[in-house]
Amino acid sequence: LPSAPLGATPVRAMTIAGTDSGGGAGVAADLRTFALSGVHGCVAVTAVTVQNSLGVSAVHTIPPEVVAGQIRAVVTDIGVQAMKTGMLANGAIIDAIVDVAAEVGLGRDRAIPLVVDPVCASMHGHQLLAPEAMDTLRDRLIPIATVVTPNLDEVRLITGIDVVDGDTQRQAAVVLHEMGAQWAMVKGGHLRSSPRSADILYDGTEFLEFEHVRIDTPHDHGAGDTLASAMCSALAHGMSVPDAATFAKAWVSESIRWSYPLGKGHGPVNPLW
Ligand code: PLP
Repeated sequence: LPSAPLGATPVRAMTIAGTDSGGGAGVAADLRTFALSGVHGCVAVTAVTVQNSLGVSAVHTIPPEVVAGQIRAVVTDIGVQAMKTGMLANGAIIDAIVDVAAEVGLGRDRAIPLVVDPVCASMHGHQLLAPEAMDTLRDRLIPIATVVTPNLDEVRLITGIDVVDGDTQRQAAVVLHEMGAQWAMVKGGHLRSSPRSADILYDGTEFLEFEHVRIDTPHDHGAGDTLASAMCSALAHGMSVPDAATFAKAWVSESIRWSYPLGKGHGPVNPLW
């Protein structure tokens, strides 16, 4: 993606997400991807996680009005061309984001496109969204998403659909679109029965498919965040959602290819483009 000339104001995007003290996932992954794809990254922190390569051991959530305040402060001064959400921790934070979104023109059919990565749990199973917030995610946030990017575990929690093949994956995309997302990108990376990682993108008219050979590595921490922030970067640069998805799929696949060991557990993907 193009970088601004040195000294000129670059394209801006904002991540609304949690921190990872290990520097692998969440805000760290998003800011790396933004910077490396020619985007100035702004941040609304939703939660601080106590985390390393072995997992999340504690979460401290930020007051909802502070999350909304970070968004309002940036939009009214710096201005952004796209935003993404990652870990949102609880329903009160989702409510605050949806309310401020209406005020600042964020979301589908508004000025600033929104990528919703519906993060529910870490790969080690630690809750990153309170279970009682699932209705708020479904009823309030997904309907303002320009694109929603669940993995198969998140699809099961949000829609109740157990994706086992391409047909059920397409069925899940239809349900997410009917919930109000303009586009649904159902990621197939967790479908271990397939030698390829195939993501389905659907906008109510056609199914697009994005494929890559599966890259076998234990070091895939932050892969979901990296895909969603690459999509957000591409949208900030003015690309269409299908073009942004093509870019993001290539970006996350290369990032997984160049992931590295870190600590005693799962190392991070490496968006080193
Ligand atoms: N920590 C934070 C703050 C995250 O946002 C995420 C994912 O979105 C994770 C951890 C989980 O990452 P993984 O499932 O790759 O461990």
